[in-house]
Amino acid sequence: MDNVAPVFIDGKWEKIKTSEFGKVFNPSSEEVISMTPFCGKKDVERAVKSSLKAFKVWSKFSYAKRAEILFNYRELIKSNKEKIANIISLENGKTLPEARGDIQRGFEVVDFACGILHLAKGESLSEIAPNIDSRTNLEPLGVCAGISPFNFPAMVPMWMFPIAIACGNSFILKPSEKVPLTAIKLAELFQEAGLPDGVLNIIHGGKEVVDALCIHPNISAISFVGSSHIAKHVYTLGAKHGKRVQAGGAAKNALVVMPDAEPKSTMNSIMSSAFGCAGQRCMAGSLLVGVGKNIDSLKQTLIDRSNDLVVGDPLKNEKTEMGPVIDGNSKERIFNIIDGLGETGVKVIRDGREIRNKEGFFVGPTLVDNVDSSHPIFSQEIFGPVLSILNPKDIEETVEVLNKLNYGNGATIFTSSGNTARYFSENIKCGMVGINVGVPAPMSIYPFSGWNDSFYGDLHMQGKEGVQFYTRQKVILSRWDNLYEYKSGW
Ligand code: NAD
Repeated sequence: MDNVAPVFIDGKWEKIKTSEFGKVFNPSSEEVISMTPFCGKKDVERAVKSSLKAFKVWSKFSYAKRAEILFNYRELIKSNKEKIANIISLENGKTLPEARGDIQRGFEVVDFACGILHLAKGESLSEIAPNIDSRTNLEPLGVCAGISPFNFPAMVPMWMFPIAIACGNSFILKPSEKVPLTAIKLAELFQEAGLPDGVLNIIHGGKEVVDALCIHPNISAISFVGSSHIAKHVYTLGAKHGKRVQAGGAAKNALVVMPDAEPKSTMNSIMSSAFGCAGQRCMAGSLLVGVGKNIDSLKQTLIDRSNDLVVGDPLKNEKTEMGPVIDGNSKERIFNIIDGLGETGVKVIRDGREIRNKEGFFVGPTLVDNVDSSHPIFSQEIFGPVLSILNPKDIEETVEVLNKLNYGNGATIFTSSGNTARYFSENIKCGMVGINVGVPAPMSIYPFSGWNDSFYGDLHMQGKEGVQFYTRQKVILSRWDNLYEYKSGW
């Protein structure tokens, strides 16, 4: 097979020997564009060995030298943005503007990592006691590993490896087997930027490799992003084996529309939040909460806008507004959920099943009305372009209902009242709140701050918490008694 994705171990790109492969599709055409080899424990062992060797050297590089390589990397990503966006769009199905956003968000983490020494510098206090000075060092952990999902092939791995590496660690990335090509391009560019061999290794696969990483005695920390049941498994297994773990999980995010919301920008934000990336964002709005009596016109505008949405192959038609979902399993899973809705008492008012038999893994925009917290669709993550509509009477009831969700990534309120926005942001139980912002995903200087079943661990990815996660503190106390008196005594 010529189209097998290579692994990257110790600075070399290799085709590994295995009999197990996953298919990488162009989700718009269903064409198989590559095959992902499933690595085994032997490959994990080789990657760890290379990472350990590299860590010994890399952790001793000065921050200035590391920054020089990161700045080179930043420039290479900048000049290759369009190429990377095309790879993302091809293997994931996103539109080109969405793919550009994906790599842009990753780029911002590299930007952040270039100046990481400001956050990695520790604290000091002289004369904490007579002749005693105290300081803290933030030291790298060793070999860290990252496991990423399919939906942001660039951004999510880049929440992890640039920060870990900038702090002096070496890193093993296991990208989603559904989108390995973006990760390969990102590693090629890092190598070109001058990253020493073994500081970043890439292996492929599924459960066998992930479990091997979680239990390996020479891996110090695991970063995971994916569905909640696997996030919980990785968190538990990694922690049991003495590792630091941060594990992002699934989500169910609400878009609350108050009667005083500004109609045009609110509607644009809802469309982009619910149907952008075909609903496959962990910050996608999937519950539309129209508060108060008069939400009929809101629903009608949503139906009209959904009917007008251009759904298709992003690489063939630049006017495409929504691409396909990732694969045939996802498409069937979403259609099966819609098929079953009739029995649950809710009403499909805009049906995305009209393109069920079209070539490509397409699901049309779908609107489900009359939903309340007793319906399974209220709390279930669908990860597709399906928006459920609720109609509570006021903001207090809204908060009470939304706080029944087990997930806790994001929630947005659209309003022109500062008081309502403040009440909402103070009382809603989730980690990222938007006020008139449809996708309140934080930029690289802030943590990606999921709560409840959307995150297992203590320190989140990105920002200051990202640096804390990939370093450990050492407190150094030093005592120099009467130095000058001693000298003058001689
Ligand atoms: P997934 O859980 O299927 O896969 C994620 C990773 O886990 C992949 O690398 C995969 O190979 C690996 N994996 C799969 N099965 C495994 C198993 N049994 N044991 C160990 N590892 C296994 O997720 P996905 O479908 O790729 O991504 C979509 C999910 O990711 C959604 O639930 C979405 O909400 C979530 N997500 C969360 C965030 C966040 O920050 N909270 C961000 C992006 C995506």
